[in-house]
Amino acid sequence: MFMHNKRLQYTVRVAEPNPRLATMMLEQFGGADGELAAAMRYFTQALGEEDAGRKDMLLDIATEELSHLEVIGSIVAMLNKGVKANLAEGAMEEAELYREIGASGTSAKEALLFGGGPALVDSAGVPWTAAYVDTRSEPTVDLRSNIAAESRAKIVYERLINITDDPGIKEALGFLMTREVAHQKSFEKALYAIENNFPSGKLPGIEPYASMYVNASQGAGDMQGPWNSGEQWDRVDDLVQAAAIDGGNGLATVGLSKSDMAIAESLALRTKSDPSTNPTTGADLGAGPGAGRTTEGDMGGASNVKEASKMAQAMTVKPQ
Ligand code: MN
Ligand code: MN
Repeated sequence: MFMHNKRLQYTVRVAEPNPRLATMMLEQFGGADGELAAAMRYFTQALGEEDAGRKDMLLDIATEELSHLEVIGSIVAMLNKGVKANLAEGAMEEAELYREIGASGTSAKEALLFGGGPALVDSAGVPWTAAYVDTRSEPTVDLRSNIAAESRAKIVYERLINITDDPGIKEALGFLMTREVAHQKSFEKALYAIENNFPSGKLPGIEPYASMYVNASQGAGDMQGPWNSGEQWDRVDDLVQAAAIDGGNGLATVGLSKSDMAIAESLALRTKSDPSTNPTTGADLGAGPGAGRTTEGDMGGASNVKEASKMAQAMTVKPQ
């Protein structure tokens, strides 16, 4: 069960209201790498977890993320306190209020629909979605995703710290950022506490494909490094020669029943193209300057964008 303690996990001291900053803080409230996404990610993973150690860790971290949600949401609420009250009470002149909301750079949605309260949206007003949680219920997959999620959250906090000069907010954000560092470390330990954690899942990779590096982008800029060269790698540079890599003919085939085969053939026959014809089409019939070569003759064209603009200008019909 959940219980609630009325004290925040970290004290929120906001120097003065700033609706623009509140909007930016929403990124960590209802955004893709925000605290709700983190809490829901770990909470649902914990419910499905069989391992007692991981289950305990996931519940601890999920619950802490909810506490972070409370801290960042409280920052948003404090930053919006002035504008929220003025909106609700109609205390300012219309023009003044209109200017305050407009000039502060907050979205109209935040002011008009959410009334300045902390809404579960990101900094662009996009509603939170469960699609931010990418759990696959396999610990060697989910722990890696959690490690990445924590490092993303860390970076977003870093950016938020860089855009505010409010010392109280900076301090609280510094705490939240650092907790994501600590969570990343726990997830890394939990991943490596699984003896065979790579490749993920149960099925082993198939040699020689597991040690093959395919140099699929070729030309100037081709580089070598430990990620594609050396003892660990069999590098494939001649792609055409290597295809199909399994030694087969590289064609796609399927076994079809007699009746399905007949239907597939009739479909192919109905949509068969005739390469010996050169039909006149609507593009030929309507061709004007710039159409290039058509069955009706050569309509020419511009040699560059500048000339094309000039030609277009010359074709402008002046109203009488
Ligand atoms: Mn957090
Ligand atoms: Mn975290």
